[in-house]
Amino acid sequence: MSLTKKICEIFDAPSVLYNDEVSDKYASDWTDGGKYRPEVVLRPKTAEDVSSMLKLCNVAGQQIVVQGGLTGLSGGASPKPGEWSLSLERMNQIIEIDQDALTITVQAGTPLSVVQRAAEDAGLYLPLDLGARGSCQIGGNIATNAGGNQVIKYGMARALVSGMVAVLADGTILANRNKLLKNNAGYDLKQLFIGSEGTLGIITEVVLRLFPKPITKQSAMCALESMTDVIHLLNAARTRLPSISAFEVMWPNYFDACISAIDDARSPFTEKYSYYVILESEGHCAETDFEHFCELLADLMEQGIVANAVLAQSIADAENFWKIRDGIGELTALLKNAAHFDIGIPIRSVEACVDDIQSTLLRKFPSVIAYYFGHLGDGNFHIVAGTENEEQKYGVYNAVYEITGKYEGSITAEHGVGSDKTQWLHHSRDEAEIALMRTLKATLDPKGILNPGRVF
Ligand SMILES: Cc1cc2nc3c(=O)[nH]c(=O)nc-3n(C[C@H](O)[C@H](O)[C@H](O)COP(=O)(O)OP(=O)(O)OC[C@H]3O[C@@H](n4cnc5c(N)ncnc54)[C@H](O)[C@@H]3O)c2cc1C
Repeated sequence: MSLTKKICEIFDAPSVLYNDEVSDKYASDWTDGGKYRPEVVLRPKTAEDVSSMLKLCNVAGQQIVVQGGLTGLSGGASPKPGEWSLSLERMNQIIEIDQDALTITVQAGTPLSVVQRAAEDAGLYLPLDLGARGSCQIGGNIATNAGGNQVIKYGMARALVSGMVAVLADGTILANRNKLLKNNAGYDLKQLFIGSEGTLGIITEVVLRLFPKPITKQSAMCALESMTDVIHLLNAARTRLPSISAFEVMWPNYFDACISAIDDARSPFTEKYSYYVILESEGHCAETDFEHFCELLADLMEQGIVANAVLAQSIADAENFWKIRDGIGELTALLKNAAHFDIGIPIRSVEACVDDIQSTLLRKFPSVIAYYFGHLGDGNFHIVAGTENEEQKYGVYNAVYEITGKYEGSITAEHGVGSDKTQWLHHSRDEAEIALMRTLKATLDPKGILNPGRVF
C-alpha cells in the first residue's frame, strides 16, 4: 500500500490534504520563492499525531518540510520537489498559564499574537515581539530563535523557553515541560531544537517564561552625528536605564527614503543628521522612569553627544517613530530585485563594516543603492539593496557575506540560514562546527527526512 493511502486511511480528512485540496499557500514562506506546491500536507492536532505521521514517513523515506506560520525570510519552510509539508496550523491551543511559575504552556502552532494576548489577559507579559506577530507561530519563532524589537532587554526567543515537547524523525516524543528556573539534571535537550530550523525535530508544545507587565513606556527619537556618539548613547542608556527595551538605528538614506515612501510619515526634526536612533525604555515605576529617561537625554545633549532629541508625548508620536523604522515594506516595494540581509556584527566594528560594504558595492556594482537600519543594540542590522538583475543580486549577497565573515560577524542574526544562505554558512561557522552539525543531524535524523537541505 502506498504511503499516501496508508496515511489517508489512518487520519481523517482535515489531518491530511491531498493533491487538489492543497492550496498555494503551502508552496512558499514569506520569501515567495516557492515553486512547489506539495502533493500532501499533513495537519496533525497532537504530538501523538506528529509522532505517528513521522514514523510512517521515516520508514518510507518520505521527506518533510515543517511549516509554521510561513513568515520565515530564508526559504526554510518553502517545499522542495517531492517534499510533503507538515503544517502545525491546527495545533493552536493555549494549554495553561501558571501564575506562580510565571509560565505559559502552548501548542507550537499558536500564533505569536494569540500567546501575547493570553499572557496579557492574565496580567502578565510575553516580551517576544516582531512585525509578523499576527501570522508567525510560536513554534516557528523558537525553531528560528527569533529576535525582534526587545532583545536588548529580554534576549532572543531562546531565553524565553523553559520547557518543550519535540518529536524526532523516527517518531520518538521528547517531553520536558520544565517550569523550573534551575534545572541541571542532564543535558538541556530543548536547546537542540531552538534555532535549528526544524532540521533536528518538530516542536509541538512549549513552556514559555512570562514577566510582570511593565507599566511605563518612554520613547524618543534621537539624532546624532557620528557612530562613536551612537555607541556612547547605547552604553550610557544600558548603564543608566536598566529598563532599556529598544535601541534601533537608522542610517540617513534609510530614514529619508522611508519618509518619502510612507504616505503619512514625517520627520520629527527640521534638520538632517547622520544617524537616527529610537530609544525606548519600559519600566515599573511611574514616579521615576520618565524622569531618568529625560535626565539621560538632557545630559547627553549637554555633552554634545546627542545632537537633537524628540520625546514622544503620546502613543501617536511613538507610533510615528516606528512607522519610519518599519517602512522597510514600503521601501522594498520601490526597489527592483531587492537583496535583504540581517547580519550581526560586533558593535565596535559596525562602522568599519558598513564603510567596507559601501565602498565594495560602489566599486563592484556602482548602480546599487543600499539602505541600512536595525537593532544596533544587539549588534544586528539589516541591509536592503535594490539590484538590476538576479546575477547582480547574487554578486551583492556574495560580497556582503564575505565582508561579514571578515569582521567575525554572523550571516544571519535572526532570520536563520534556511535554504537561501546555506552556501555562505562557512563565513560564520568553521569546518569543525559544520561537521558537528552534520553529525548531530545524522544521529537524530539518519534518513534525512526533516527539512533536508536547510542550514547546511
Ligand atoms: C513583517 C515581518 C517581520 C519580521 N520581523 C522579524 C524580526 O523582527 N525578528 C525575527 O527574528 N524575524 C522576523 N521575521 C521573520 C519571521 O517572522 C520569523 O523567522 C518567525 O520566527 C518565523 O515563524 P513562522 O511560524 O512563520 O515560521 P515558518 O516561516 O513557517 O518557518 C520558519 C522555519 O522554522 C521551521 N519551523 C516552523 N515551525 C516549526 C516547528 N513547530 N518545529 C520545528 N521547526 C519549525 C520551518 O521548517 C522553517 O525552517 C519577520 C518576518 C516578517 C514577514
